[in-house]
Amino acid sequence: MSDSNTADAEASNVKPTNFIRNIIDNDLESGKRTNVQTRFPPEPNGFLHIGHAKSICINFGIAKDYNGECNLRFDDTNPAKEEAAYAEAIANDVEWLGFKWAGEIKHSADYFDRLFDYAVELIEKGVAYVCELSMEEMRDYRGTLTEPGKNSPYRDRAVAENLDLFNRMKAGEFEDGSIALRAKIDMSSPNINLRDPVIYRIKKAHHIRTGDKWCIYPTYDFTHGISDAIEGITHSLCTLEFEDHRPLYDWFLENITIDCHPQQIEFSRLNLEHTITSKRKLNLLVNEGVVDGWDDPRMPTISGMRRRGYSAAAIRDFIGRTGVTKKVHTVEMSLLENSVREDLGENAGRAMAVLNPLKVTLVNYPDDKVESIQAPIHPQKESMGKREIFFSKTILIDQADFRESANKKYKRLVLGKAVRLRNAYVITCDEIVRDGQGNIVELLCTVDLNTLGKNPEGYKPKGVIHWVSESHSKPATVRLYDRLFNVANPAAEENFLDCVNPECLVEVVDARVELSLGEAKPEQVFQFEREGYFCADRYQHSADNLVFNRTVTLRDSWAKIEAKS
Ligand code: ATP
Ligand code: MG
Repeated sequence: MSDSNTADAEASNVKPTNFIRNIIDNDLESGKRTNVQTRFPPEPNGFLHIGHAKSICINFGIAKDYNGECNLRFDDTNPAKEEAAYAEAIANDVEWLGFKWAGEIKHSADYFDRLFDYAVELIEKGVAYVCELSMEEMRDYRGTLTEPGKNSPYRDRAVAENLDLFNRMKAGEFEDGSIALRAKIDMSSPNINLRDPVIYRIKKAHHIRTGDKWCIYPTYDFTHGISDAIEGITHSLCTLEFEDHRPLYDWFLENITIDCHPQQIEFSRLNLEHTITSKRKLNLLVNEGVVDGWDDPRMPTISGMRRRGYSAAAIRDFIGRTGVTKKVHTVEMSLLENSVREDLGENAGRAMAVLNPLKVTLVNYPDDKVESIQAPIHPQKESMGKREIFFSKTILIDQADFRESANKKYKRLVLGKAVRLRNAYVITCDEIVRDGQGNIVELLCTVDLNTLGKNPEGYKPKGVIHWVSESHSKPATVRLYDRLFNVANPAAEENFLDCVNPECLVEVVDARVELSLGEAKPEQVFQFEREGYFCADRYQHSADNLVFNRTVTLRDSWAKIEAKS
């Protein structure tokens, strides 16, 4: 694990500059603002993904750097899609990423009474009306990007009638979708968001916080800005798709009585190649059984990445590298994987694991002898200490590490040639043992007992391979994860489910791992030498059932493939 899993550990680093921080600097300098208050406002309708991690790092990071605070607010205005379990998972993810919200968790639903009162205020001011157009009619009246809309025939109702109808909406007198409260703004505005948007709609649905108290719910646009203002947010940071909603955000705040007017600032979303960053689509992967739940290690969710073995520090590092701009772009997966590799290279302890074992008998080694060898946990970090590995007459190497004959480029074991066993001796392969079908089932080798920690005399081994002692190793399940999609932009495909990488998970059930790995704790990360970085599964790994997930390979194997194609 990294030295510290909290974002505070990075506080001493140089603070980033970007256009949002420039705006804040100016606001503080000019006296427009005296403090910085941000918020992260997820809708609890799914798990958080890598895109949300960006929003979290920006909002909490800015609050921290300006000695301000960041709220966690559930934007829970759509009762049909929201679940308490999602809310809980989201809060856990934010904490795990290393951030702490100010005070209690907030909910838009906490403001439903006040939002209702503000709607009444708009009606009383003559800038909101109850409209009885059906959904289709409303769409027809709205106009298009090139044509202005038409006024609703209900637009000029008297205030008293609007008040009466709005109260009856609240009382449950009308059916879902039959009637709505709308802001009276401008049906010919070039910005369609300003063409009398709906503020309240009828939805006879149970809400995770307010139960059955309400059958009318405020829309996102109405709720969001007012909730920001209620909480004293100074800078409301969101993604670019809300840019055209900003005039509406401002209109609501200018037309109600409230003494706070946050500034909405938009930045571009994080899109990542070879994966999906949309809760709706991720939900499909879960529901269709393509993955094993929201926290499957193949998912780009925060909990999936955590289970895969990515540390919070690596994710924060990656987000920092993607920058904060208004430019729409898609980031290569290798950028994320490089942050993960860098972090693991520094922090993961080394161990040996043989995924496809091939038996090797050391013919000149005493039958019952077992040698204990102290191997470094991290070759560059002595402070991480040592681990005990065991050497014996029968060892296991990986099938891929032996060839009967090979050219000079093959730096592993070859018949008649010598190779070094990592952390141990040099061996030479004398003979191959085959089964009835001609498969190689065992190698007979000689060990040079004069080579522990020193070079052999008079010859040179071809390379270094990893191994475990047959008697002093444990069985393990190893899950080899790879990219979830075999195309760079699955969201652009007609059906993104068709381009799921069939090899995104290969399970190896008969791997053998060195004895010390029997003490691995769930979520502990390792470099399996020469194989890659692995993490003990958060849920399924135990001392009696070792389960390791491949976090990332040692090198980027996709770089080659993509260069070729
Ligand atoms: P999705 O499309 O996955 O459902 P969303 O935007 O609807 O995402 P919310 O729960 O509303 O999800 O998002 C909470 C916050 O996270 C919002 O402020 C949103 O702008 C931000 N966010 C969501 N996706 C991304 C992304 N890919 N990059 C950066 N910020 C994002
Ligand atoms: Mg949303």
